[in-house]
Amino acid sequence: MKRFFIDPDEVTKDSPVIDGADAHHISTVFRLTPGNHILLVDGSGMEYEAEIISLSKKRVNIAIIKKYFPATESPLRITIGQGYLKDKKMDMLIRHLTEIGITGWLPVISEFSVPKPDPKKIDSKLGRWELIAKEAVKQCRRTRVPEILAPMTFQEAVEASGHMDLKIIFYENETTSLAQTASTLHKKPFTIFVLLGPEGGFSNKEIELAISKGFIVASLGPRILRAETASISACTLIQHQFGDMC
Ligand code: SAH
Repeated sequence: MKRFFIDPDEVTKDSPVIDGADAHHISTVFRLTPGNHILLVDGSGMEYEAEIISLSKKRVNIAIIKKYFPATESPLRITIGQGYLKDKKMDMLIRHLTEIGITGWLPVISEFSVPKPDPKKIDSKLGRWELIAKEAVKQCRRTRVPEILAPMTFQEAVEASGHMDLKIIFYENETTSLAQTASTLHKKPFTIFVLLGPEGGFSNKEIELAISKGFIVASLGPRILRAETASISACTLIQHQFGDMC
């Protein structure tokens, strides 16, 4: 069954309607017809099975048949604070990290970030990242779209993470592994904030600031990984250690 997005307000109506690009996909690209069943997600974590009642190129009228919580969402809430990278790398990371199960994406402008976001283009960038995340959600059968946050400076990001159960900064000069860190925790974390550096890495000052704000410094092993490899590895390890990848 094909999966599409629906506005969360729409699913509560007696006669829900799908419009926009998804209506075009349903009617013209996939050539679905009345009586066909589709799957719908509204971004809240719930999934719906629906029957197509009638359709045109721009509107699809449906009836909701079933609603349920599928088991594709991680039991964790992971927010990645990513040191700002070139556009293509940021796009790629959002796609892959959404598949791995993150729930938040925060671009971080740190001391050694070379590309800096152009304030005039940031709205269109946020829109683009949201689209990429939605596509990845559909593809990997998740139901919750990660929250895409506007860029912050390193200091703002560190301050904003205050309420999280566990805060980790990955640093190539550290030797303590995530497993060692995990063994010292009294309770399994639910909300996790993770800082990963740009190509130039973090400065000593940034590492010290993070430690002073309660961050744990962790290693990803003896090799220095490229920024995008490090982010994907870190998320996978976190899901393995505390979440649902084993
Ligand atoms: N410029 C640095 C490498 C930065 S790698 C150098 O060449 O020395 C980019 C980011 O990936 C780092 O800031 C860190 O967050 C993460 N990273 C890469 N390898 C790592 C490792 N072995 N352990 C922990 N973090 C690592």
